[in-house]
Amino acid sequence: MKIMKGLLWAALTLSICAGFALLYLLQPAGKLEQFSAWQYSTKTANANLKVHYFGVSTLLFDDGENQILIDGFFSRPSLAQVMWNKLDSQPALLHKLIQQHQLQRTRAILITHSHYDHTLDLPFLAQQLKHSQIIGSESSLNIARGAAIPESRLSLVNPAQPIQIGKFKITAIPSQHTPATAVNNDLGEQIQQPLSLPARFYEFKEGGSFDYYIQHPEQNILVKASTGAISKQLQHLQVDTLFLGIAQLSKQSVAFQQHYLDETVETLRPRVVIPIHWDNFFQPLARPLEFLPRIADHSPRSLQRLIDYAEQQSTQVILLNSNTPYPLAPMLQPTS
Ligand SMILES: [Zn+2]
Repeated sequence: MKIMKGLLWAALTLSICAGFALLYLLQPAGKLEQFSAWQYSTKTANANLKVHYFGVSTLLFDDGENQILIDGFFSRPSLAQVMWNKLDSQPALLHKLIQQHQLQRTRAILITHSHYDHTLDLPFLAQQLKHSQIIGSESSLNIARGAAIPESRLSLVNPAQPIQIGKFKITAIPSQHTPATAVNNDLGEQIQQPLSLPARFYEFKEGGSFDYYIQHPEQNILVKASTGAISKQLQHLQVDTLFLGIAQLSKQSVAFQQHYLDETVETLRPRVVIPIHWDNFFQPLARPLEFLPRIADHSPRSLQRLIDYAEQQSTQVILLNSNTPYPLAPMLQPTS
């Protein structure tokens, strides 16, 4: 009887400890306020070219005339939904965003790779934004094909062929995905056939990764969504503002981190670097962006690593939240 009682107590204590450990791991890895000095908060974005950040690597560039959208992920299902359910867009939310940001002016949707946190809303957006061309890997195009988007609006990404959209000239650059994790081990795999939503997260195969180099009379920009760099790939680019993915950066070896930052921040020497893919994408957009839970990443460490590196070479780091458009006008940028 005494042994039974002892065992029960041990089991109870263990479960309570496991519960607390899980709670701890589900908390954000740090507070965004720690980085308030780097946050952009000016509400008046007085520039011809602006960017609106929607978390992960969804970025809307708008020069008042045309818009281009990098990736399409606004619906942000919760961790429980991602683990247990099929995923789909939230039409009400998207209709609201389309109106609020006048997304009917979107002329192109450029996809960095096909994981759901970059493409979940691509089918819905492609259906609604009828003037937009969809550009991405064969896998990304297969996500659009799942929603019966006409072939005339689908363009396979072609690094040798820049695309001119109004004043935007966009070149795709082959890139590398963030190193694989246990739940993210499909790198190089393709979506072979049209993928209809709803679908489970693992059906969104990576399908190859691309950076986008955006030249505009106001500024030259590079968007690098994933934490992976091909050596010497970026050395001939002229970049004013670099949008740099830092997902999982602090979890990599010191040598990897050094190589990644050398090949991006050091090679490009942009005036400004804006970290992306640091936010908890299991939270809805209605809430201010926050860091990922500890169980998924240690984003504050990655951000600090980037800040230390960038500031050594006088590149300014600016942290964007999802409710403030950021001006990309040369005269508003600090000079180094
Ligand atoms: Zn990915």
